[in-house]
Amino acid sequence: MKGKTVYVAGHRGMVGAALVRRLAREDVELLTVTRSEIDLRDQSAVDKWFAAKRPQVVFLAAAKVGGIVANNTLRAEFLYDNLAIAANVIHAAHVNGAEKLMFLGSSCIYPKLAPQPLREDSMLTGPLEPTNEPYAIAKIAGIKMVEAYRRQYGADFINVMPTNLYGSGDNYHPEYSHVVAALIRRFHEAKVAGAREVVVWGTGTPRREFLYVDDLADACIHLMKTYSNSELVNIGTGEDITIADFARLVAAAVGYVGAISFDTSRPDGTPRKLLDVSRLARLGWRATTKLEDGIRLAYQAYLSEHAVSV
Ligand code: GDP
Repeated sequence: MKGKTVYVAGHRGMVGAALVRRLAREDVELLTVTRSEIDLRDQSAVDKWFAAKRPQVVFLAAAKVGGIVANNTLRAEFLYDNLAIAANVIHAAHVNGAEKLMFLGSSCIYPKLAPQPLREDSMLTGPLEPTNEPYAIAKIAGIKMVEAYRRQYGADFINVMPTNLYGSGDNYHPEYSHVVAALIRRFHEAKVAGAREVVVWGTGTPRREFLYVDDLADACIHLMKTYSNSELVNIGTGEDITIADFARLVAAAVGYVGAISFDTSRPDGTPRKLLDVSRLARLGWRATTKLEDGIRLAYQAYLSEHAVSV
């Protein structure tokens, strides 16, 4: 990557912003473009931009994302936006001579009932979790594009699959966010209001793995520099936790002391989503931020990004 032009697609998102922070420590020329300048769903706009800038290295971290309700409700948008972004950026990168591209998938591309921890080779071995099937199908299409461009054209494009992410720059929408941001906000607001009960969605029994987004960015840079292969690479911590235990950790980090209850009318989603990170370990990378520390950092980020008082 040294001395190269590096384009981060989606630099305003949580992942893209973490990549930009991490790339500041590298000797590269960073390229970004805002959504108001280029809509990545617009093929001709993307083609023109790539023809003019010709980035040598591309991180494709742009995507329409959200939590379980957003995925399940905005099904058409999640499918169309993510398919269009993947198709336009991957193709334009190839046509305009990008030397390397990293496509970021997601752990939800694996079948709902695949053996845990989820190995990379379990993709397309069974039905998907219905709540996020449109998003997963779009991401699987992107992964297959990367594989096909590598096979047919010899492009040095790679696929990585991050687990559930959290940290600075997250989306705190009360209905559409992911669980970490949702609970940080809900426990904080309950603490400030002196509320005695906080409601957590579902049964509390699903298990999830959570990776701090700056750890993800570090893993991506490591793989961009050292990895060149058609095989997917999972990026996670290799450890998971029940939503109930996770909620208690968030309550403790925020300083909320009231009760926690569970709303079982809300969906649980997939029962477990733990990544097998042995390939990543063999490639020389491990997560370093402990969940308790990460939650504290994420809470601080929430307070500063939203200028709310403790
Ligand atoms: P998922 O991993 O795709 O299911 O994404 P989420 O982060 O949205 O949800 C993870 C788990 O947390 C699911 O079992 C949810 O039911 C549970 N959960 C508990 N409370 C909340 C909440 O307030 N918001 C969200 N998004 N999920 C919650």
